Amino acid sequence: MSSFTLDLNDDQIAVRDWLHGFAADVIRPAAAEWDEREETPWPVIQEAAKVGIYSLDFFATQSFDPTGLGIPIAMEELFWGDAGIGLSLVGSGLAAIGVVANGTPEQVGLWAPQMFGTPDDVKVAAFCSSEPDAGSDVAAMRTRAVYDEAKDEWVLNGTKTWATNGGIAHVHVVVASVDPALGARGQASFVVPPNTPGLSQGQKFKKHGIRASHTAEVVLDNVRIPGDCLLGGKDKLDERLARSRERAAAAARGERTEKVKNAAMATFEASRPAVGAQAVGVARAAYEVALEYAKTREQFGRPIIDNQGIAFTLADMRTRIDAARLLVWRASWMASNNKPFTSAEGSMSKLYAGETAKWVTAQAIQILGGNGFTREYPVERMHRDSAIFTIFEGTSEIQRLVIARTLSGLPIR
Ligand SMILES: Cc1cc2nc3c(=O)[nH]c(=O)nc-3n(C[C@H](O)[C@H](O)[C@H](O)COP(=O)(O)OP(=O)(O)OC[C@H]3O[C@@H](n4cnc5c(N)ncnc54)[C@H](O)[C@@H]3O)c2cc1C
Repeated sequence: MSSFTLDLNDDQIAVRDWLHGFAADVIRPAAAEWDEREETPWPVIQEAAKVGIYSLDFFATQSFDPTGLGIPIAMEELFWGDAGIGLSLVGSGLAAIGVVANGTPEQVGLWAPQMFGTPDDVKVAAFCSSEPDAGSDVAAMRTRAVYDEAKDEWVLNGTKTWATNGGIAHVHVVVASVDPALGARGQASFVVPPNTPGLSQGQKFKKHGIRASHTAEVVLDNVRIPGDCLLGGKDKLDERLARSRERAAAAARGERTEKVKNAAMATFEASRPAVGAQAVGVARAAYEVALEYAKTREQFGRPIIDNQGIAFTLADMRTRIDAARLLVWRASWMASNNKPFTSAEGSMSKLYAGETAKWVTAQAIQILGGNGFTREYPVERMHRDSAIFTIFEGTSEIQRLVIARTLSGLPIR
């Protein structure tokens, strides 16, 4: 008997259909309004919390699907509904991953539930890594975390930018440099608890797309947090820093050091397919609108899909969407089954799905003609939204860099 199948099991089908219903009935009808308002869609988040979609439990259950498909299926359906609202619904989950990836079980148990609040009092969370001068170049991060031993407190100073839910979050996860000389290996993640003095929202960005998702700067001005807000704990950090310093010293002496596994890279490979799945959802949504339009819009006495120029475009759109989904599913399956990403398959899936969403949504506008160019139809919004997928969670260029370096083993620049 073959163990390979692309058939979804009954649980996966049930979750997919449930989310699709929520996306069609609740998210879609609200999409244009929140895009125009450029605000966090709190009523939709509350609705999602009431039915159990906006909850730690839901994200955890999907994450533990042993096939790896729980998260990509959920992402595709929610973002099929709308990407801006979709990001507002999953942004806290992405911040929670920051705690789960680095925190102790006690820290996860304490902070992850607070990131979502309760259905009667919903909260959001933010993950703050990017800075004005440290986007793709994460090692250039300037935000500093200094340990005050006398008080067992960490003091954070710096400016974060582009933080989804930044400033409106109940809990902020902040990446900061503990030892700048070690670059990315000298960084650590911290939880900033609710209402901590010194943390404030800077500029809120007015964006091209995903406008229902709040994006802002986060200013950290002498933010004092308890020692146990360092994710993973001080002993683990001290051990890691000591190892990195030894390696740096050995390298300075010209000694060859054994190649260490880059844990951050492994985490990115595992998380990028989720973003790829979001892109697949947007692409599929635009394709469906374009297909329907092409079958019903008549010019020259026949539906426009009767022209090969239109029909072949739709064929290519669907082919690329299916290829993107298969890359996403492969990488998600690999992550859940602890397969090594020997060809950067996670980055591949995000690269291809992101580029596909941008291309497919542009084709959809073309197929809808003048209507595609207006806000009467959703494809112009979908096209604006799709542009984010080649930028965040690593730009397309950075995905190509990672793939090329992984394939060649060379430090390609
Ligand atoms: C809406 C939105 C939400 C976001 N949410 C978050 C969040 O929640 N938390 C967070 O920490 N960050 C977040 N980000 C930040 C996002 O991850 C960064 O924007 C992204 O990493 C790119 O960084 P940058 O904008 O500084 O671009 P840069 O790094 O300045 O890149 C500019 C251009 O140069 C290219 N480039 C850079 N280096 C190379 C190279 N070596 N080779 C080839 N090309 C290169 C890039 O690909 C890009 O085309 C968000 C961004 C946006 C727009």
